[in-house]
Amino acid sequence: MIHFIGAGSGAADLITVRGARLLGEADCIIYAGSLVNPALLDYKKDGCAVYNSAKMTLEEVIALMAENEQNGRDTVRLHTGDPCLYGAIREQMDELDKLGLPYDDTPGVSSFCGAAAALHAEYTLPEVSQSVIITRMAGRTPVPQGEQLKKLASHGCTMVLFLSTGLLEEVEQELLAGGAYTADTPAAIVYKATWPEEKVLRCTVGTLAQTARDNHITKTALITVGGFLGDNYERSKLYDPAFTHGYREGRP
Ligand code: SAH
Repeated sequence: MIHFIGAGSGAADLITVRGARLLGEADCIIYAGSLVNPALLDYKKDGCAVYNSAKMTLEEVIALMAENEQNGRDTVRLHTGDPCLYGAIREQMDELDKLGLPYDDTPGVSSFCGAAAALHAEYTLPEVSQSVIITRMAGRTPVPQGEQLKKLASHGCTMVLFLSTGLLEEVEQELLAGGAYTADTPAAIVYKATWPEEKVLRCTVGTLAQTARDNHITKTALITVGGFLGDNYERSKLYDPAFTHGYREGRP
């Protein structure tokens, strides 16, 4: 069996109970060495083979998984955060399907959740934003035409940008060109959320690039943008004493 596992955003104890159990049972671990905390390898059993996929191609990863299957060895494919975001997991699953090899997927805590925790923030505040756009700036990997940052920024909702820390001048321009944010709209750079070396840098849309430069941050960070980082919002209906719902009678 091949197990895709979300490692979580950094801290080794943020992996799920299931993920940790499967790591401990694996005969072979292929981990995304560029971002997965190596401390997670402490969960492995004696004799488990370990490969860093940062140095491998898709073909090499699949060949190793197939060889393990032939020899009755369990493989764990360990991805950072949750594999469903920028995880290049679909192409692996498609190759395994072609070969008829069985796999399953254990979710993990994505770094956008780790970043919210680091910020002590809620992305979906009543009357501020009820939507979160997860995207990236176009770089060496292109972004489809309809998803240009400028267009997405026109909604003014909460945004979380992956893989964009090296392009913050362009990010600022695109965010402003959307017309919904201003240079003063709150923003934050969260570097290595939930790792011991985590850094939280609060700034504004207009100071994103400068803030990253001042703090020497070039990668492994998320950019978050929007009024959710401000101080104004409405209380939830759910916990409003006057609001009646299926589990509680409201009092006038
Ligand atoms: N699947 C991962 C994302 C992989 S893409 C997830 O769910 O989090 C890699 C990008 O994710 C990095 O360039 C960075 O933008 C972001 N990232 C991953 N881990 C991070 C962390 N602990 N703190 C901040 N950003 C992180």
